[in-house]
Amino acid sequence: MQVSIFGTGYVGLVTGTCLAEVGHDVVCIDVDAAKVEGLNNGVIPIYEPGLTPMVKANHAEGRLRFTTDAAMGIAHGEVVFIAVGTPPDEDGSADLQYVLAVAKTIGRNLQRPTVVVDKSTVPVGTADKVRAAIAAELAARGAEVSFDVVSNPEFLKEGAAVEDCMRPDRIVIGADGAHAAEKLKRLYAPFNRNHDRFVVMDVRSAELTKYAANAMLATKISFMNEIANIAEQVGADVENVRKGIGSDPRIGWHFIYPGAGYGGSCFPKDVQALAKTAQQHGVQPRLLDAVEAVNEAQKAHLFELAARHYGGEAKLRGKTFAVWGLAFKPNTDDMREASSRRLLQQLWDAGAKVRVYDPEAMDETRRIFGERDDLAFCDGAAATLDGADALFVVTEWKQFRSPDFARLKATLGDAVVFDGRNMYEPADVEAAGLAYYGIGRGRSL
Ligand code: NAD
Repeated sequence: MQVSIFGTGYVGLVTGTCLAEVGHDVVCIDVDAAKVEGLNNGVIPIYEPGLTPMVKANHAEGRLRFTTDAAMGIAHGEVVFIAVGTPPDEDGSADLQYVLAVAKTIGRNLQRPTVVVDKSTVPVGTADKVRAAIAAELAARGAEVSFDVVSNPEFLKEGAAVEDCMRPDRIVIGADGAHAAEKLKRLYAPFNRNHDRFVVMDVRSAELTKYAANAMLATKISFMNEIANIAEQVGADVENVRKGIGSDPRIGWHFIYPGAGYGGSCFPKDVQALAKTAQQHGVQPRLLDAVEAVNEAQKAHLFELAARHYGGEAKLRGKTFAVWGLAFKPNTDDMREASSRRLLQQLWDAGAKVRVYDPEAMDETRRIFGERDDLAFCDGAAATLDGADALFVVTEWKQFRSPDFARLKATLGDAVVFDGRNMYEPADVEAAGLAYYGIGRGRSL
């Protein structure tokens, strides 16, 4: 099938590549000329496991092309995806300017019947706005071309995006007509071979499904962080509590890890946008507001543990801290809303210096913060320890799982570890003569 995709970010690039991988003829369109030029020269702008060789192979075979030429892209696609960003607006609602700009471009260039697919995460009712924007542009040029607007939310996880795209749990298709739904089913048939993953529904339900999924996952995290904060104060260990509840199949093991707060480009903005939608429709989003508030507070928790250990924020002045992990989660270079950003800022505000390392997010960190005297970029986890007083672990990369605690003890001036992801057993760390702080590990108080 001939497919066009607007947006070559995490979603657009991965979706386009996976569709090309199963034999579709894909054109990806982006307004970022440098990104497009890079992609045409084998420079992949994001880190996702398995993505680079797949892009290169499909590009070399001509099934995956990159362009800034929207008219060409629209002429190519019998199915045209919108996969551009929907960042939060100032009031927390989803900013639809990029989605609607693409819709207008489609309307200005549409020549033949087309299925327009909204893959960006957008509030309920956006398909109607996209339809209206396309129709207005068609009317303005006196053209009559039939088109459908379908909602097909994306559930891939950064860090496992290619795997998720090739083996989706479910493929949600929100369509108000059978023709468009059938077309998408044909498009996705190669990903739906061993059992039926299609969940076909009306457009508005599909739009809400994406927000409901992310809000549920964010709720689990905030719930567990609240339990962790209680555990810390009552002298319980949240890791024991986690094991005690995760074994109940009604609760399950996923997303009940306490930590330094959730980040990334999706949970924070989607929880806020859903709360905004609720308010706009007269529903008070009490639970969503609490999920967000708990998370905001949690992002400050590692710093609070450090301030407590040192006997007040003022005592952090002049200290140097090693920081392991900057990305919002492992296996990605994405720093959007990452907990590390809050921690670094708090440490700098308190007059401390940081020595940082992340396996993939160093360039992104440099882009965000630039060069500064109180920020040292290190070549590896071990190098961050040189001259450091204490260690913060912020992202649970596998390579941070088994450090040499004796070496940490020998190098860290104040012999203390703040573990924002509960990577370590307190007893192991303490046996090496280090002080240990985790999240919700009351026994470490
Ligand atoms: P991103 O910011 O990584 O990429 C967006 C891309 O769109 C950029 O390359 C930008 O240059 C391009 N763009 C902007 N305006 C354009 C236009 N008019 N024409 C062509 N290209 C244009 O975004 P992302 O992370 O891929 O997210 C895209 C959407 O998918 C968002 O709505 C997001 O909420 C949703 N989503 C993201 C994830 C994720 O894990 N990142 C998962 C599921 C859903």
